[in-house]
Amino acid sequence: MEITIALAGNPNAGKTSIFNGLTGSHQHVGNWPGVTVERKEGEFIHGNIKIKVVDLPGTYSLTPYTIDERIARDFIVKEKPELVVVIADASNLERNLYLLIEIMQLTKKTLLVLNMVDIAEKKGIKINHQSLSKILGIPVVKTIANKGVGIKELKDKIVEAIKNPQENVGEGSFLFNERIELAVSEIRDRVSKLRLIFPPRFIALKLLEKDDEIRELVFSKADNGLRTVVDAWIARLEKELGDDMASILAAEKYAFIHGLYNEVVELKSSVERQIDITDRVDRVLTNRYLGIPLFLFIMWIIFQLVFKVGNPLADIIDKLMGSLAALISEVLSKWGASSYAISFITDGIIGGVGSVLVFIPNIMLLFLAIAILEDSGYMARAAFVMDKLMHSLGLHGKSAIPMIVSFGCNIPGILATRTLKSEKDRILTILILPLMSCSARLPIYVLFASVFFSKHAAWVIFSLYLLGIILAILMAAIFKKTLFRGETSPLIMELPPYRIPYLKSVWLSTWQRTSMFLKKAGTFILATVVLVWIFSSLPLGVDYASPESIIGRIGAVFAPILKPAGFGFWQAAVSLIFGFLAKEVVIGTMGTVWGASEESLRNILPHYFSQVSALSFMVFSLIYVPCVAAVATIWKEAGAKWALISIAYSMLLAYLVSVLVFNIGNLIF
Ligand code: GDP
Ligand code: MG
Repeated sequence: MEITIALAGNPNAGKTSIFNGLTGSHQHVGNWPGVTVERKEGEFIHGNIKIKVVDLPGTYSLTPYTIDERIARDFIVKEKPELVVVIADASNLERNLYLLIEIMQLTKKTLLVLNMVDIAEKKGIKINHQSLSKILGIPVVKTIANKGVGIKELKDKIVEAIKNPQENVGEGSFLFNERIELAVSEIRDRVSKLRLIFPPRFIALKLLEKDDEIRELVFSKADNGLRTVVDAWIARLEKELGDDMASILAAEKYAFIHGLYNEVVELKSSVERQIDITDRVDRVLTNRYLGIPLFLFIMWIIFQLVFKVGNPLADIIDKLMGSLAALISEVLSKWGASSYAISFITDGIIGGVGSVLVFIPNIMLLFLAIAILEDSGYMARAAFVMDKLMHSLGLHGKSAIPMIVSFGCNIPGILATRTLKSEKDRILTILILPLMSCSARLPIYVLFASVFFSKHAAWVIFSLYLLGIILAILMAAIFKKTLFRGETSPLIMELPPYRIPYLKSVWLSTWQRTSMFLKKAGTFILATVVLVWIFSSLPLGVDYASPESIIGRIGAVFAPILKPAGFGFWQAAVSLIFGFLAKEVVIGTMGTVWGASEESLRNILPHYFSQVSALSFMVFSLIYVPCVAAVATIWKEAGAKWALISIAYSMLLAYLVSVLVFNIGNLIF
């Protein structure tokens, strides 16, 4: 008689180590049918029984959203192994138990391995495995797999479990709230008549969770009555319990696990207490109602800081640049340099690159704030809070992380979407990411807001970031309804404990990002403003940056189109055109075409913009077109089609919103 058992567990729980410990060298590797996921099998003989061991892919849950989860689930359901050995990382027990609970809904024959007990003890976590075994009604074995500790006992328990299949109480040990159980038992009774491959209780729960695949499977075999019953229950429960069914069920599972954990973990060290503090802080920061307002409040504080502290510093640099330009042009003319050379240095380089560099203090402060939020553990919470919001809008929660990364720069944000398993979710997220205002756009806001909204500048900048988020969510909802229909998978996220940020790592990340900005200013932005300067000086003999220059003529072609948005003059048009290369260049171009060396841009802008058109210009800069590098990244990650769609929709949206802002603004003011 050959007996098959399966190993399941979270990634890195030690499955492979246990597998090796059990089977030694008796292993073979193949692929799961139809997919390229590795399938490992081995065998061992113990107590005269030959036991075949199948190593299932590592997963966090069994919702079949990924290939790995599907393989694991289907194997348990279809091939009905004699025993499913669930390997849990004892130092991370709460999260690891989630998978166990899911597996216990699929099969009664489970055994729990508490692996990594050495690490757990180091963390001060001591688990009472007898009481855990009693509560769950399944055998529990402790191991230190990489040292082979506990493997012999594990083999004994496996053989014992196979010889006397102890019916675990599985179902009884974990019940949902009464209302839900009522629904489950009614649906279960109806489902059990269908004789499907999955256990009836499991199906009932999946139906309530609105699992598409199971719904299809069941409803294609059942009469319409069942669908009506299920949908009525879902509607009733969601109304009564005030949340989405999938969230309710997940929350109950977590609550059960949390209680179980407190029951069986004996020793709590300082590590645990620290986690308790984290728990308490999280109850506020990730609260259903307070989470988002607090997130916005923290962002608001950041912009106050970026602005109130950054601007006086920016002013100083601005003055220095002005004097430098004056000095250089004086020296150069004394030396008898040509007017072209003087203009090149003062208008082109100092006017262009200099007017971007002025904003280093603001940008550095923004990077500093981001680094502190990341290091303290809050960023993960921000993503978690956004996740809830996004999920309720039908978006994938994991897109919250790329969105937050994008506040620094859109490109790493786009790359970060690779963690999204579903291609639809990924492309959808890539499309909306450029609406997250990256740091390159900050100089535009800082300049315009300080000139036109002096007292309320920080508020204006905050509102622009907020507008970006709102538009992103809105567009996502629209895309979701049109281009990407279908369900989104839920997110299980690990929240790291809070800690006081390390000065060194905060400084390192701030400096790395700032120096990247400096490098960009010294290379890419410099090259662009030189180009702008050349176009402003040609054809030969024309007045520098006059409407007759090449750049003036290019701008004049587009200016009329921008008129309805309030900035229909050629300088704005060319700034935006060159801003496609990098958004900092918008300001750089203005510095160059207005030769802002003698007179600061701050004094020139009010001749061209009103308060309302300045606002409309900032809004346009926020939304219109991702920069070249971002478009190239989208192209690489999602393909040409989506890169083009991204350009097209953002242009249209920018135009639409800024025309609205300008016209409504003029009505009000
Ligand atoms: P898998 O991803 O579940 O297959 O996990 P692996 O078996 O590859 O183990 C992940 C890492 O944890 C490896 O570096 C193992 O050496 C290590 N490891 C496995 N079990 C234990 C354990 O009980 N204690 C400690 N300290 N390390 C372990
Ligand atoms: Mg492995």
